[in-house]
Amino acid sequence: MTESESGRKKYSVAVAAGVTVFFLTTYLIPWLRENMLLPCVRGIRDFFVMLGRHLKSSATIPWWSLWILIALSATIVLRIINSIRRGKSMESRKLDWRMFREFIYGGIRWTWGYSFSGDIIQLAPLCPVCSYQFDLRHDAVPDDRLLYGLRDVTRFWCDNCKEEKAVLDGDYKRVELRVKKEIHRLYNSGEWETIVRRQIAERSENQSAER
Ligand SMILES: [Zn+2]
Repeated sequence: MTESESGRKKYSVAVAAGVTVFFLTTYLIPWLRENMLLPCVRGIRDFFVMLGRHLKSSATIPWWSLWILIALSATIVLRIINSIRRGKSMESRKLDWRMFREFIYGGIRWTWGYSFSGDIIQLAPLCPVCSYQFDLRHDAVPDDRLLYGLRDVTRFWCDNCKEEKAVLDGDYKRVELRVKKEIHRLYNSGEWETIVRRQIAERSENQSAER
């Protein structure tokens, strides 16, 4: 390539660029502005103007439908206020001792109900992990301190976890008696209230976690 050839090439590139810029600024950009940008802007502006007019205008609806709307909103507001008040009163409310129906003792979750006269009935030992009712087995373990060298124990087997979860001293009758005595101790000391409040809090925590 000679000097003059490369000079001619540079010249023609510059001319082409100049023509392109001229074309863009003179025709294409004004055309785009006129046919694309302005209609868009006008469309958006018209939409907001219409919305403003619509909101300012008054609707004519029959009074009965207006009353239904007012009643509905009032019910919703009252419900919200009520649920807030109920949540507060749960904390300060006096608890009924019959709400005390379960606790953990000896590594076992004990549940029970109450007879009409308030006696503990249907005391059941449950697995603290899976809540399956334990299978019980009366057994004896060596104990040198005793005359016969053996001590009665009750084994608590969870057939769901496939695991022995607890071994408590005595046959099941004695275990049951001990548990009932412990429940009575909690009534008398007032500790049952703390336990029930904690259980209620845990339950509502679990419920909100599930939601
Ligand atoms: Zn279990």
